[in-house]
Amino acid sequence: MKKENIIIIGSGPAGLTAALYTARAQLEPLVISGNQLGGQISITSEVENYPGFPQGTTGPELVQLMQQQAERFGARMLIDEVTEVSLKGGPPFSVKTYGDTYTADAVIVTVGASPRRLGVPGEEQFIGRGVSYCATCDGFFFRDKEVLVVGGGDSAIEEGLFLTRFATQVQVVHRRQELRAGETLKRRALANQKLSFLLDTVVEEIRGNGKVEAVRLRNLKSDQVRELATDGVFIFIGHDPNSQLFADQLDMDDQGYLVVDRKMMTNIPGVFAAGEIMDPIYRQIATSVGQGCAAAMMAERWLETQG
Ligand code: NAP
Repeated sequence: MKKENIIIIGSGPAGLTAALYTARAQLEPLVISGNQLGGQISITSEVENYPGFPQGTTGPELVQLMQQQAERFGARMLIDEVTEVSLKGGPPFSVKTYGDTYTADAVIVTVGASPRRLGVPGEEQFIGRGVSYCATCDGFFFRDKEVLVVGGGDSAIEEGLFLTRFATQVQVVHRRQELRAGETLKRRALANQKLSFLLDTVVEEIRGNGKVEAVRLRNLKSDQVRELATDGVFIFIGHDPNSQLFADQLDMDDQGYLVVDRKMMTNIPGVFAAGEIMDPIYRQIATSVGQGCAAAMMAERWLETQG
């Protein structure tokens, strides 16, 4: 059992910012990264709205810079996944990973959210064989191919635009007439010759033989059903919080987001949360960074009160 001052579970923008602040406060934080250091932004192709990068940057680059900055002040990154936590009755809190068990006097939970599944036949079967939730990871495999993007929000449009670098044609399937995405992205999408829209339409099934070959589509206005040939289906329909690990210990809302008070503290004193795990509203890199900073400052103060 290894003893730590503070453990940060998760390594997205909230986690890495909490690591920077607690490291600068001499707390020598241990960051348990999860299976992907950087979380969701490490698979985000372009980041154009994070201040300080007038020409934009990429998710992986931003992660690397945030990690280096936190490490410079003594934060330690552990590439491992948390399998179990015991928070009730702490501190000390117990955090178990595949590799070891740790105790800590404070914990900051920044485990974020995961891409939402469409829940249609064929989706699970063809993950990695034409079904993807990450354009940055898989876009290259669709060079000179035709793909569909499902969703109408900023992610769908942004990642759809990114996919036009590789695919010959990108069709965005959205269940309503109106896109949810912001005006700038909408304008860029409409100006892109390779990108087109199938509106008021849903994917009902993903079909293929060993790999994706087609989808069954339904037009919700006409109720017409048809099959459309495609090489890939990229799904960007939002996210669900990764809060299962904390069930029966930390308070959650009806969607599974952790509930915190104004000091970023959960229902268990000494356990804080920041980023998309507690934020169903803003979900921006900039807001996650702010929340990570706030949680770290509050954790530091809380530890002081505990002597
Ligand atoms: P989102 O804004 O929640 O959009 C999800 C989209 O998927 C919506 O268009 C929704 O349709 C559709 N959808 C949801 N469930 C569906 C289902 N079962 N079947 C078919 N379609 C479904 O999610 P997001 O695009 O991932 O964005 C999340 C947050 O990150 C937002 O706040 C967004 O602004 C932000 N973000 C910002 C940027 C940027 O600023 N550059 C980039 C990426 C993300 P309806 O519209 O009908 O609900």
